[in-house]
Amino acid sequence: MKQESIKEEAKYCLNCKNKPCSIKGCPLNNNIPEFIEQVKQENYEKAYEILSETTIMQPICGRICAHQKQCQGSCTRGIKGKPVNIGELEAFVGDYAIKNNLKIKKQINEKLVNKKVAIIGGGPSGLTCAAFLAKQGVKVTIYERYNSLGGLLIYGIPEFRLSKDIVKKAIDKILELGIEVRYNQKLGENLCLGDLKKYDAIYLAFGGNISCKMGIDGENLIGVYGANELLEYSNYPNFEDKEVIINGGGNVAIDIARVIKRKNAKKVTIVYRRDKEQMPAEKQEIEVAQKEDIEFLYKNNIVKINGKEKVESVELIKTELVKKEESTRLFPMDIKGSNYVKKIDFVIMALGSKLDDFVKDLGIEMTPKNYIKVDKNLKTSNPKIYAGGDIIGQEKTVAHASRNGRDAAKKIIEEFCK
Ligand SMILES: Cc1cc2nc3c(=O)[nH]c(=O)nc-3n(C[C@H](O)[C@H](O)[C@H](O)COP(=O)(O)OP(=O)(O)OC[C@H]3O[C@@H](n4cnc5c(N)ncnc54)[C@H](O)[C@@H]3O)c2cc1C
Ligand code: SF4
Repeated sequence: MKQESIKEEAKYCLNCKNKPCSIKGCPLNNNIPEFIEQVKQENYEKAYEILSETTIMQPICGRICAHQKQCQGSCTRGIKGKPVNIGELEAFVGDYAIKNNLKIKKQINEKLVNKKVAIIGGGPSGLTCAAFLAKQGVKVTIYERYNSLGGLLIYGIPEFRLSKDIVKKAIDKILELGIEVRYNQKLGENLCLGDLKKYDAIYLAFGGNISCKMGIDGENLIGVYGANELLEYSNYPNFEDKEVIINGGGNVAIDIARVIKRKNAKKVTIVYRRDKEQMPAEKQEIEVAQKEDIEFLYKNNIVKINGKEKVESVELIKTELVKKEESTRLFPMDIKGSNYVKKIDFVIMALGSKLDDFVKDLGIEMTPKNYIKVDKNLKTSNPKIYAGGDIIGQEKTVAHASRNGRDAAKKIIEEFCK
């Protein structure tokens, strides 16, 4: 959006006293009316300062948060018409800070300058925790398995949705706070928790990007891939003129479908066992995918993948949605005898992700669903170790991961100041 339209959009905000966008909608509780008020007055530096009190992800969240469900979904303007485009306004302020080299303000607390914290994983959660600790003077070291930071912002979300250049610039700004980074350090491989004894606290934020499997026949055939691994390693087979089925209904399913379509696949179909209304992916993303000729096969489920060595076809079954007493979500039930076979070249599983197996050997208590267990202060079963982001298995979004990072920093600081 151009500066003039940004100002017009800001003027459209009602500056609601009860701040529903901020309190109900935004997982980070960004002070939305206040920062928009500063945009109205073209005081972008102040707008950035207000946002920086709660987030360091402005140019990123502004672009890829689920605004329709989060802040804009609670906007008063949205009751009778279209909500304020909060995402665009936030991205504008984040971009302005990058272009004009605005700094994240430090407020050094002398009690903290001798404290040291290790953070494992440099994705949104780890980076946010690092920034909120470093702002107050804590010495932070991030241990990252790759030779770059950003996590899924870099190797998950595709470039056409989130520019890597923007992510890198946003990260540079965070590192200016004086954060040390040790690259190529992989917990469970060349790094163990015992190596980190000199630190006063540890924050685990190494995410979990291993594709879940269905556990059906034929899942190990050549031509079956996990969406998360394809996106992470960019090691794609030749999809040209091929027919591809994506199994799943979230953001990852849409992203991988759009990536594969760009690789000149003949036909890409997303199979989802519920209906369009229940799809976890953003409505906007579904519409964009439809415009890009991606097909959607709702209320269908894959029961078997056929082939000798390589995928040749899939067996599908139709489903109907039923209400179960114990759940508010409609449940997809297979319709007996509705099975049919569809010829296909590739099957991509996009059914969610899980943690790496090494986590079970860290000596930290896990949840029944195999995530790291934390209490309300994001503390694990080891009192010196905190955890957040995708590894604790709550809502898997950038804003939630980042909120965990900020909250953990706050709790660690409270503990240090006792
Ligand atoms: C394809 C895709 C699209 C998505 N789209 C959106 C979207 O549009 N909007 C949204 O809000 N969310 C989206 N998400 C989810 C969002 O990206 C994640 O919820 C968020 O990145 C989680 O942050 P995190 O810091 O917990 O983990 P990650 O982003 O996974 O970062 C973990 C970091 O830890 C490092 N690491 C991993 N293992 C180790 C180890 N053993 N030792 C040291 N370092 C390690 C990794 O390299 C990485 O840098 C998407 C996810 C995917 C996969
Ligand atoms: S709810 Fe909408 S109109 Fe009200 S302050 Fe928030 S962004 Fe502005």
